Amino acid sequence: MEILFLGATKTVTGSKYLLTFGAQKILLDCGLFQGFKGLRLRNWDDLPVRPHDVESVILSHAHIDHSGYIPLLIQNGFRGPIYSTSGTKDLCAILLPDSGHLQEEEANFANRHNYSKHHPALPLYTREEAEDALKHFQTKPYDISFSPIPDLNVKFLKAGHIIGASIVRMNYKGTSIVFTGDLGRPNDIVMRPPALVDETDYLVVESTYGNRLHEREDPRDLLAVVINRTVKRGGSIIIPSFAVGRAQNLLYYIMSLKQQDKIPDIPVFLDSPMSINATDIFCNHLGEHRLSDQQCDLMGKGATYVRESEGSKKLDSHNLSRIIISASGMATGGRILHHLKFFAPDPRNTILFTGYQADGTRGDRMIQGEEEIRIFGEMVPLRAEVVSLSNTSAHADYEEILGWLSHFKRPPKKTFITHGSEASAEALRDKIHEKFGWDCVVPNYLDKEILK
Ligand SMILES: [Zn+2]
Repeated sequence: MEILFLGATKTVTGSKYLLTFGAQKILLDCGLFQGFKGLRLRNWDDLPVRPHDVESVILSHAHIDHSGYIPLLIQNGFRGPIYSTSGTKDLCAILLPDSGHLQEEEANFANRHNYSKHHPALPLYTREEAEDALKHFQTKPYDISFSPIPDLNVKFLKAGHIIGASIVRMNYKGTSIVFTGDLGRPNDIVMRPPALVDETDYLVVESTYGNRLHEREDPRDLLAVVINRTVKRGGSIIIPSFAVGRAQNLLYYIMSLKQQDKIPDIPVFLDSPMSINATDIFCNHLGEHRLSDQQCDLMGKGATYVRESEGSKKLDSHNLSRIIISASGMATGGRILHHLKFFAPDPRNTILFTGYQADGTRGDRMIQGEEEIRIFGEMVPLRAEVVSLSNTSAHADYEEILGWLSHFKRPPKKTFITHGSEASAEALRDKIHEKFGWDCVVPNYLDKEILK
C-alpha cells in the first residue's frame, strides 16, 4: 500500500490522499484548496493520476475543503462511486451545488471586471456539474465494513465534527491505516464525541488546532450576556454564521437559554436557505448529535425560517429587538450584508461573530475595530458593538487530540500530521512525540510513502 499526499499538507484545505493498492487507486477525500491565491491555483493543476484510473473516492465529510474537488474530478474523467455516510451525502447535496454557484459567480465577476488572465474566465465547475456529481454517491452506514476493491476493508466511524463526519479505518491485506478526517470534540454541547480507536499501523491525524486550546467556558454563558446587554439598550443581535454546524448550534443555544429564562423571548430569524436546509438535515440525523426529537422540534419552532429574499429585507427594522442569523459566516457575501448595512450604524445593536475569521475578510476587519466597512461599494459606519464568540469550534484542540490518541494500546508505526498550518502541524508533531514517543512526520505536498 502507498500513500501520496495531494492536499492538506501544512495547510487546512485541499484534503486529498491518493492510496495505491497493487494496481488499484483510491482517493480518500477530494477537497478544494481555499484561501490564498497560491493555494487556490493548485485546484487548476493536473492531478498526478488520471481521474479515469481512480477506482473510487472515500469521503470523510461534506465540508468543501474535503469534497469540493469532486465535480472537477468527474469533469476530468472519473467514473467510479463516491462512498460516504448518508449524512455526508445529504450535506453534499447542498454544499456542492452552492460551491458550483460560487465558482460561476467568481468567473462572472472576473469577466465583468476583466481581471482574469484567461478570456473568458471559466468556473472550476458549475452548479449543474456539482448537481450531477451527486449521482456518483453510494452511502454506507457507520461501523460496518465494506470492500470498495478486493482485499480492502473500509469502515466509517463517527468523528463528531459535523453530521455525517467520519473517521475512516482501512485494512488492506493485514495492514491498517486510520484517517481522523476532521476530529470533533469530546464534550461538545451539541455533537456526540468522536469514536475511539485503539490501534492502527498507520495514522493520518488532523492538526487544525495543533498549537491552540479552546476556552473551556460554556459558549451559552457569554451568548446570554451579549443578548441581554443588547436587548437592554433596545438593540438587535446580528449573527453572521456558517450554514452547516454553526447555525444549528446557535439555534440550540438560543432555544435552551430561552427555556431557562436566561434571555428574554425576543424573535429569532434564521435568514439563509442553506442554513434552513442544513438544519433540516441535522434534525433528520438523530443519534449523531445529543439532541432529542423534541429538542430538534423546539429548535425549529423557536425561530422563523426566512427562505425568500423579500422576507429577508423586511427583517431590517429598529422597532423591536430581534436576533438575525444569516450567512455568510465571515460576512464575505450573502444576505448578512444587507443586515449589516442596516444595523451596523446604530450603537444599540451587536454584530456577533461565532467562528474563525480568515485574514483580510470583512469579518476579520470588523473584529479588528475598523470604524467603517465597505458594503455594496458604499462606506457604512460601524457603530454597533462587535463581539466574537469563542469556543464554538467543531475541531478538537491539541489537548483533546492528545486525549483521543491516549486510547491507543500500541503506537502506530508512523503518524502523519496533516490539515493544519505548518506551525500547528509541527507543534502537534512535537507534542505527540513528547507525550507518547511516536514516530511522527509532517508531510509535504506530493510526498509519497510506502506503507507495509
Ligand atoms: Zn470539516
